Amino acid sequence: MALSAQAYRELAAIVGERYISSKQHILAGNRVRTPEIPFDYHSADAILLPGSTEEVAAIVKVCNKYGICFVPFISGTLPDAYANRAGTVLIHLKRMNRILEINEEDRYAVVEPGVRHVQLYPEVRKRGLSYTAASVGPGGSVLANFTSTSGDHHTQYGSSRSNRYLLAVEMVTPEGEIIRTGSLQGGCGWFCPDGPGPSLRSIIKGYFGSHGQLGIITKAAVALDACKGPAEIRTEGVSPHHRVYFDSDLSRVYVFNYDNIQNVCQAMLALGEAEVCSTVQKYFYLPLTLLMSDSANDFWKKWTSGYKEAMSMPLVVHIAAQSVREREYEEKILFDVVRETGGKRLPEELENWWTEHMDYFMVVSRLQSVLRLGGGWMPIKLGADSVQHICDVGESIGEYIYEFTETGKIFDAPENYQIIPMEYGHFAHIELLFMWDRTNPAAMKGVAEFRARSREEDLRRHFHAEDVGCLNPTLLQLGPLYSNCHIWMQKIKESFDPNNVANPML
Ligand SMILES: Cc1cc2nc3c(=O)[nH]c(=O)nc-3n(C[C@H](O)[C@H](O)[C@H](O)COP(=O)(O)OP(=O)(O)OC[C@H]3O[C@@H](n4cnc5c(N)ncnc54)[C@H](O)[C@@H]3O)c2cc1C
Repeated sequence: MALSAQAYRELAAIVGERYISSKQHILAGNRVRTPEIPFDYHSADAILLPGSTEEVAAIVKVCNKYGICFVPFISGTLPDAYANRAGTVLIHLKRMNRILEINEEDRYAVVEPGVRHVQLYPEVRKRGLSYTAASVGPGGSVLANFTSTSGDHHTQYGSSRSNRYLLAVEMVTPEGEIIRTGSLQGGCGWFCPDGPGPSLRSIIKGYFGSHGQLGIITKAAVALDACKGPAEIRTEGVSPHHRVYFDSDLSRVYVFNYDNIQNVCQAMLALGEAEVCSTVQKYFYLPLTLLMSDSANDFWKKWTSGYKEAMSMPLVVHIAAQSVREREYEEKILFDVVRETGGKRLPEELENWWTEHMDYFMVVSRLQSVLRLGGGWMPIKLGADSVQHICDVGESIGEYIYEFTETGKIFDAPENYQIIPMEYGHFAHIELLFMWDRTNPAAMKGVAEFRARSREEDLRRHFHAEDVGCLNPTLLQLGPLYSNCHIWMQKIKESFDPNNVANPML
């Protein structure tokens, strides 16, 4: 369905002709572009680039008037950031890209949606502050991650995930009303998400974010932490072959390999109980080998010459202490725990890679090099529960993944999942990343089978292994595992969005 001429005129009058387009080549450039996404995606009917909250609200009102669906987006790294049906417009928020405030005393930053990690992170870092930056990389929107998408990241063991750091926001409801939450509504500034004033934290973000289904966030305040590790960093070389160092006696990285996930679990719980170390995570060995490689050929050489075995289940630990005495204390506990749980320190040449790539522990630009292999890749599960529960999920993968790895349907890396504890082990997140040969047309069938099998196995075991985010077909399947949250989500969606125009997926 193309937009009616009248609807187009009304939308153009809001943003100006310069900031709206329905040209086919522009729309085609704003479709889901990852070939492995196994859904049918449409071109939008138009794309708009508003410059203010008032313009966003006016666009939303026109959409409601004509029954046009709308999808807000910034970097578009998620498939949910695109039109999934005819009769949809895209609202690209990249023009709204100002850092409005960095409050060093009360430790928060106020940003518009178009602010990327590459903009905000250096600004706060040079003030000795930091925040929970998702591994999406420097180009991702800070606001989208804190308000609307998942929010897990590699350093959440000693801190937490983005939902815990969201403060007051300004948003446009699915019907076009502008509202302000928490302390902002009471005229007290941005510092508090809950009051005085209305708290809509669970509506805006909940745990995983509602992917634009319950409104468009136009400004958000996010809490900042003190830097873990030195604020000063040293870089050498040119990207992607750059090195990033923390030259400090307060920072150390250690990596241990395990052969049993239950022992990793015990190590995570013991370290968390002692509240030592800044980052603790079981990382996945396939991306790790890719991170350590300079090319696809280099990857194959390393993978087949021992890296796979040497790093089959790596536990990555970063200590970022306030004093040398504290670092030594944490090291002592760490080595005791590793000895008791059967970990083996990685050979020096592998462990040293980390001290040369400390950007991994900040904005993870380093992570993007995992894509250089050029194959198809997909992260699944992405849920969270207790450390023990999530390690049991990890263990169960070995009961069905071999049917897929040994038949060549997916890449032969059966242990390729990461587990990241958060808040010193009060919770943990899992991501199972799998890759496949995308030059093989038959591979997509295997991919679909593997995704379905993973979900079936989790449902059968009552595992809280998958993320339950917005209202979509996956939520309908998983809802019964989570107190029928899909029914509540449907009711909330109907009351906030009676015309079902805000990024509908059902
Ligand atoms: C290589 C890679 C690694 C990743 N690693 C992580 C990770 O470690 N942790 C993590 O949490 N995520 C990760 N992601 C997922 C995702 O990219 C991020 O969550 C990121 O925050 C999305 O930012 P974006 O600017 O691309 O948002 P977009 O893709 O543009 O939008 C994402 C969703 O949010 C909605 N949305 C965007 N802006 C708004 C707004 N202002 N108001 C309401 N809804 C809005 C969109 O409609 C869409 O549904 C990763 C993605 C990739 C490709």
